[in-house]
Amino acid sequence: MRIAVFALALIAGPALAAPADDVSAARLKARVEQLVALGTRHTLSAQDDPKRGIGAARVWAEADFRASCGDAVQIVKPETVISGPRVPQPTRLVDVVAIQRGTARPDEVVIVEGHLDSRRSDPLDAAGDSPGANDDGSGTSLVLEAAHVLCHSHFAGTIVYAVVSGEEQGLYGGKLLADYARAQHWTVKAVFNNDIVGNSRGSDGLVDDAHIRVFSEGPRADADAKLAHAQRLYGGENDSPSRNLSRFVAGLGDPGLAVRQVWRADRMGRGGDHLPFEEAGYPAVRFTVAVENYDAQHQDVRTVDGHVYGDTIDRMDFPYLAKVTRLNVRALAALASAPIAPTAEVKGAVQTFTTLAWKPVPGAVSYAVWRRRTDASGWEEKVLVTSATTARLDGVRADDWFFGVSAIAGDGSASPIASALPGGGFTPPLPAGQP
Ligand SMILES: [Zn+2]
Repeated sequence: MRIAVFALALIAGPALAAPADDVSAARLKARVEQLVALGTRHTLSAQDDPKRGIGAARVWAEADFRASCGDAVQIVKPETVISGPRVPQPTRLVDVVAIQRGTARPDEVVIVEGHLDSRRSDPLDAAGDSPGANDDGSGTSLVLEAAHVLCHSHFAGTIVYAVVSGEEQGLYGGKLLADYARAQHWTVKAVFNNDIVGNSRGSDGLVDDAHIRVFSEGPRADADAKLAHAQRLYGGENDSPSRNLSRFVAGLGDPGLAVRQVWRADRMGRGGDHLPFEEAGYPAVRFTVAVENYDAQHQDVRTVDGHVYGDTIDRMDFPYLAKVTRLNVRALAALASAPIAPTAEVKGAVQTFTTLAWKPVPGAVSYAVWRRRTDASGWEEKVLVTSATTARLDGVRADDWFFGVSAIAGDGSASPIASALPGGGFTPPLPAGQP
């Protein structure tokens, strides 16, 4: 028996080490309690009060990263000054970001983020209490817990844990982080925005603690007219890198928490900090609970005619938040180990065979070619695995299929599948300063 287990460990490699098992609902809850105790975390609240406001929240988050990870992470605090419709006075905005450098390909980055700031019914009211337990104490606590369980492991690529600010005033912290990523010349493989991830009961009493929704864009935010034209002719509107990231995450769900992919960029009338990343050309998805409680979101804590409003901790479900955190941790570990997805091309016009070609990516020892019918929702069949960067499929009529390619590392970690379709390739944005 011992021999069998040892052999399995050799085959499975790092997959058997499961940091997700260490995720603690108690720690997740304790952090949300500490966040709520800061009174408000409004972006326009005090920057220098040690006990209350956004400044205190930043200090608290940095201390939490430091307590969990020590020198295993580097902490950076990108900052800017913002103003806009919900920011009447120029206001200092700071993100708190912990960077766990990859051992082999440190410029390849996976980002997990939540937003530290909270709000009241009036988005300009920075004075009154604004607990923001679930929005987004849940996402903030998840990011800190992911760092806690992952930061002492070693991965080929870098993991970035970010708690950002200014979300409720206009997605400023997400934009700041996307700009920072670009300025660092990071190849951002994936962004996981966790915003409202810690309740399982809706405002109408509907309960679902077995699903998490993952939102992704179809047509790319950074698409130009040429790409839109090519997609109209050949498809690709359902094959953006963000959409394939959604499919990848869905494959990591388990019986306790399945992924409900939602194929729209965000909920109706709403937005989040993954959007600035998609606009900059990075693959990004949003995690949000299966059933939202609208009485809790963006509401002053109050009771009206017996009806209770407010984003308070008693409305949360910490075993559920722990499940969502475990899914994030599994996905972060998988992507930090895997190479980037290759950019692939397909040819098959007026012929009875199909050829594919893709650019080699660092860290890949082989590539898997996938296909699906054009009306199928997910990748259906792994056609072949090869160490080459081309493939020829005899007897396969390309018009009838969508093809994709994933890159596989020596330890078996596989990238998301990149679609060999217009807009489906992994095309990292140019570094800042280049046209
Ligand atoms: Zn939010």
